[in-house]
Parts: sequence; structure tokens; C-alpha cells
Amino acid sequence: MDHLLSFSPDRYSRIAQILSLTVLGICTLGFVGWVWYGPILTSFVAGFYQMKINTIFTLACGAVSLWCQIGRHRRPAVRTAGRGLAVIMVVLGLLNLSQYLWNINIGIDELLRGDPFAAPHQFPGRTSVPSSCGIIAAGLALLGLQHKKWNSRAVKLAAVSACVWIGLGVAYLYGLASLYQFNAFGGLAIPTIICFILLNIGVLLSQAQQGFMFYFTNRSYAGLAARRLLPTAILAPVLLNWLVLFGHEAEMIDIRTALAIETIIIALVLTIVVGWCARSLLAFERLVSIKQSEKVQALEKAARLAHYDALTGLPNRVLLNERLGEAIKAAGRKAGSVSLLFIDLDRFKPINDTHGHQAGDNVLIQIGQRLREVVRETDTVARLGGDEFVVLLAETRATDDAGLIAGKLITAIEQPYKVGEEEMYLSASIGISVFPKDGMEPQTLMEHADAAMYYAKSLGKRNYQFYAPHMTHEAVRRASIERQMRMALDEGGFVVEYQPKVSVSNGRLIGVEALVRFKPTDGRQPVSPVEFIPIAEESGLIVPLGRWVLEEACRQNKAWQNAGYVPLPVSVNVSAAQFRSGNFADVVHHALKTTGLSPAYLDLEITETTVMQNFDYAIGLMRQLQGLGVSVSIDDFGTGSSSLSKLKLFSADTLKIDRSFIRDLPHNRDDAAITCAIIDLARNLNQRVIAEGVETQEQFAFLQEHGCDEVQGFYFSAPLPAEKFESMYARQW
Ligand code: C2E
Ligand code: MG
Ligand code: MG
Repeated sequence: MDHLLSFSPDRYSRIAQILSLTVLGICTLGFVGWVWYGPILTSFVAGFYQMKINTIFTLACGAVSLWCQIGRHRRPAVRTAGRGLAVIMVVLGLLNLSQYLWNINIGIDELLRGDPFAAPHQFPGRTSVPSSCGIIAAGLALLGLQHKKWNSRAVKLAAVSACVWIGLGVAYLYGLASLYQFNAFGGLAIPTIICFILLNIGVLLSQAQQGFMFYFTNRSYAGLAARRLLPTAILAPVLLNWLVLFGHEAEMIDIRTALAIETIIIALVLTIVVGWCARSLLAFERLVSIKQSEKVQALEKAARLAHYDALTGLPNRVLLNERLGEAIKAAGRKAGSVSLLFIDLDRFKPINDTHGHQAGDNVLIQIGQRLREVVRETDTVARLGGDEFVVLLAETRATDDAGLIAGKLITAIEQPYKVGEEEMYLSASIGISVFPKDGMEPQTLMEHADAAMYYAKSLGKRNYQFYAPHMTHEAVRRASIERQMRMALDEGGFVVEYQPKVSVSNGRLIGVEALVRFKPTDGRQPVSPVEFIPIAEESGLIVPLGRWVLEEACRQNKAWQNAGYVPLPVSVNVSAAQFRSGNFADVVHHALKTTGLSPAYLDLEITETTVMQNFDYAIGLMRQLQGLGVSVSIDDFGTGSSSLSKLKLFSADTLKIDRSFIRDLPHNRDDAAITCAIIDLARNLNQRVIAEGVETQEQFAFLQEHGCDEVQGFYFSAPLPAEKFESMYARQW
């Protein structure tokens, strides 16, 4: 379609240039006609009015003036020259006119050349009154072309002139001599009329980009229709009427028939042109409506993408938040409630891993559909991403409603899924928060529903939980770790690592500390003992766990001894709960008996705090243990509040300086002083002393210098799995 509109403004100025050159050509012919007395060249019709030589001269000035002023690449000097020629035109026109007005002859008619054919009473070569007016008008129009303020007036002037000259041309055509023949003032020659028409149209076209002309030249479909209609509207009646007239005068056709034919032809031509325009406009309208509907579609798509999940087509987090906000407002007004159900699928990851993402996507889509079937139209089912869905129950009457629906949702999710030939099963954990009980803001309600969901998961999945304040992430994590530890205890999810203890005097392996490790079964990151030991202590799990570590460490130590390694004592950490359990000495005895390890190779690390909290009990147990033949170390020494007398009474075999005092050695003077004091104390109490957490050569040198007996830390080795520890063991001995 666009080619129809491709009539560029530049093209109009090119046409204007051609018109100016045409005028110049006609003038040249006229001039030649004057020089060689060829009347045909000055009038086109022999014996008819001739172009006066002055008219030719001024029209030529106009043509050159127009040529100089159009086109984008004209130099300023050329443009100025064009304006100068326009001034000459106006002056000559005015002078000519003044001769008629005051009936004088100032002689400009003979300036160039006299008129040999002129009647004696006529002034030879003098431009006629209409021509003089036309010259003044054309000169003024040309003068105003480049003037910002006068430009539009110049165009209007040229438009009026063009109409007048076309009118005169038509009069010529129809033989209305009274219109073009001005008796004493002379008649108009055809070439003159043509030149004036062309010159004025040239002026108009040179301004194609503005004003009235722009209605016809613009590149819209309206401009296109105007361009088609205008010439038809002007030319069709003019030419056809002339033909009718001509035919009638030549007695070829009677006037009635001619007029009827003419009317039919004009109507036909105009109808065709109007239809032609309408066709273009229709095509244009279609194009616009297609583009508009594409635009509307694109906007709708963007809106969908912003508010809906691309996979399931369910509302996404953004839309959910909006709806949650609205539901809260509505419920607030009616004192109602809103429930938010946070759904997380259990074991969805294996489906993706084993059957591929396509299968996973399929299942998610099915889940979305099932969830929608359970709830009402007015409720919202959203997907937050991954395997997380949220159901928003607007206006729940009682919290029970949410529980009921959560149960139904779980049942719906638990129905089998068909993926390819296989059937798959899933379950879900749901956390529920209720407005206004669990929060007033969308964000809070989401967080609480999320926490409740984690809590539900930590309780073994496939259930739903209403939010309660203890379900913070921290609490949920602890519950989850506890639950997993219980499973790990049955399924062998714990391992023991071994960290060497080294003699300061000769750098040899002198003992080993057993440290338990826990790796959750669900593939999560290993949990540090610093986190899981306190949980195990709180939940009482530490008792069976501690027993297992004790037996495992004894078994491993005995196995090494059996394998021929030089015997070493293994240190096992004992927690306060184990210590206080009442039968701890029996547990130790049982471990030694079942593994066959000699008590001389078992050392029990009890923290200073544990000892001091139950001192009397500790003394009794200590005696029992030492009676069994095992040694006892006080772990994390320096962090508790030992009194010297108690320490003396307790009479442990080893004091273990806490890592916190070693960390900043030897630069921290306080730590250095404490470390030295503990070493002295141990020596005075006749106990061995070991420093833990030695990480650098400097720390080691300091401890060596101040008479520490043993060291343990990353400087020598981190805790290692049994097999790795073995290779170190083998190298040392
Ligand atoms: P702990 O008995 O004082 O054990 C020493 C801790 O220091 C270990 O941390 C060990 O890996 C770490 N460590 C050793 N050398 C360095 C070092 O050079 N730099 C640093 N930054 N750390 C070092 P782990 O294994 O994380 O154990 C932490 C605590 O958990 C232990 O402190 C102990 O109180 C407790 N624990 C570990 N295993 C058991 C166990 O079987 N039973 C009981 N009841 N508690 C245990
Ligand atoms: Mg320890
Ligand atoms: Mg310690």
C-alpha cells in the first residue's frame, strides 16, 4: 500500500522545476519568434494575440526566479538572485500598469524591441493590463516564497492567480473573447495564459509541504484521494464540455445528446475515481484495524504475562498480591476473614530429574487444574513458581473452612498422574494463615502461610497446618532437623570423623577426637554439629546419638588396633544430657565390652560448664568412670566458671584450652596470659593440657614455648573420615 503514498515532497519541487523550465522554454520560443518575426512562436495560433516581448521578458524572469528558489540544495546567493528577479518583475509590472492608469508612455514598451505588427494607436511591446496584474501577482508570490511571515500569503496569491488564469484559459477554449480580450488594453495570448498557469502552479508545488497545498500533497490516504479527485474534477468537465461545444459547432452532434453523453461520461469518470479512492481508503482502514488489533493483542499479551503464570495460566504472584490486598480490604469492611493456603509439593524434584522437565510441566498443569476444581470461582489459585501454589479463599466463614479445603486439595493432589505410560504419585504440604488473626498485611500473611507450610513439611509432609507463632523459620528448621536426625539415627545417616591430637614435644600423633557428622537424607547441605547438637540435646536425641558415637568410636579404635596400628586413645564428647542420664557409666561400660576396646584407650570430653553445673553429681560419676579405667578431659576449658578448689576435687586427666583463647595468639596479650595461666594450672594440678583450634605455625610455636603438652587443630589436620584418617595414621607410624 505504501507505494501509493510514496509521492515525496521532493518530487513536487522537481515538478515545479520542470514547470519553471517549461515557462522558460515557451518564453525562449516567443523571443525567437520576435527576433525572426515568426508569429506562430509568439502566439501558437497564427493571427491570434501574440505574447508581448516585455511579457516574455518578465515571465522569463519569473521562471528563472522560481527555478532559483526551489530545491533543497540551492545556494543562498542563487536564492537571493531569485528574489531579485521577482523584485524586477514587480517593478516592471507596476510601471506597465501605471502607463495604463495615467495613459502615458514611459517608453518601457520599446525598451527591448518595438512591435512591428502593432496597430498605430497601440503601444508596441507593451504588456496588457491583465498580464501586468498577473506579473505583479506572480512577482509578489515569488518574492514571498522564502519569507516566513509572507510565505502563506504568497501561496494563497499564487493559488488565486492560478485559478484566474485557468479561468481565462477555459474562456479561451470556449471562445469567450470578452474574457480574454481587453480591447484597448490588448488581448491575452495563449502562451501567456499557459505560462501564467504553469508559473503559479510551480509556485504552489514548490510549497508542497505547507499550507493549503499540503492537503493535496501530503502522504496520507486523504492526500492520495485529493490528488486523484482534483484533476478529474477540473479536467473532466472542461475537456468534455469543450468537446461537446466543438462537436455542436461543427454540427456533428446535437446539443441535447451531447450534454446527455457528457453528463454520463463525467458521472462515470467521477464515480470510477471516487470508487478508486474509496478502495484505497478501505484497504488503508483494514491495514489500520489489523495493526490496531495486533497492538491490542500485544498489549493484552503483555498484561497476561505480567499477571499470569506462563505455564499453567494461573495468576502469578503479582496478581495474587493484588487480589489478596482487595480481599483483605473487603473482609475488613465486613469483619470477615480471608484464608491463604500455601501449597508445596512433596518430592516433586525427582519427577523433573527422572522424567524430564516436560513431564514435570505436565504434572504442574494438571495440578493447577485440580486445584481450581476444588475451590469456588471467586477463590484464587495462583502459582508462585516451581512447585509452589497458593490458594486464596476470600470470605472464609470459619477457619475450619480452610482446613476442610486444604484436606480436599491434598486429596486432589494425591490422585495419580499419568505421564506417558507411567502413573506417578505426589503429595503436598499446606500452610494456612488467616486474616485478621495471623496478620493484617498481604506480606505478613504470605510469610506466615509459608512458615506454616514448612512446619507441615517438617512434621513429615502430606498434611496441612494452621499458622501459629512458634512456626518461625528458625523453629521450623529446628523441627525439621530434629525429625531428620531421628530418621538418620535409624537409617545410618550419621558418621564419625576423626581429628588428630599431636604431641608438642615430638610432633607425633598422640590421640584422636571423634566428632559426629550429620548429612540430611533429603539432599540438603550438611548441618554443623554446632547447630544440631543443641537440638539433639533439647530433644533428648543426644542420648541415643551419644551412645552410638561412643560405640562407633570404640569400635573404630579397636578395629585400628586390630589392623596393627599403634594404639591411641580416642576422645569422645559427652554432652550434659548424656552425663546426667543416670546410667552413663553403664553405657560406657557396655560400649567397651561390646567393642572389646581397652578402657585405657578411651577418653571422655566433658565440657567445663557441664561439670560445674552438677558438680557433686559430676564428682561421683567421674569416680565411677575412672574406676572403669577411662580418662576424662575437661573440654572448652576457660569458658565456664571453674573454681580452683572444685577443679582440684574433680581431678580430670586433661584440661582442653578452648579455641577462643588460641584464635588470637600470640598477639592478643589477654589470651596469651590466660593460655599460660591454664598451662601452669594444669601443671600444678598434675594434669595434661591440650590446646584446640591451632591453625598457625605462630600459635603452635607459642604453645610449644609455654609448655603445652598436646595440640589439635587445622594446622595439623581438620577432622577426617575414618578412611582418610587411616592413611595419616599409617604415615605417622
Ligand atoms: P569441640 O568438642 O570443642 O570440638 C572441636 C571443634 O573445633 C570441632 O568442631 C572441630 O572441627 C573444630 N576445630 C578443630 N580444629 C579447628 C581449628 O583449627 N580451627 C577451627 N576453627 N575449628 C577447629 P565441630 O566438629 O563442628 O564440633 C563442634 C562441637 O560439637 C564440638 O566442639 C562438640 O562440642 C560438639 N560435638 C561434636 N561431636 C560431638 C559428639 O559426638 N557428641 C557430643 N556430645 N558433642 C559433639
Ligand atoms: Mg571436644
Ligand atoms: Mg572444645
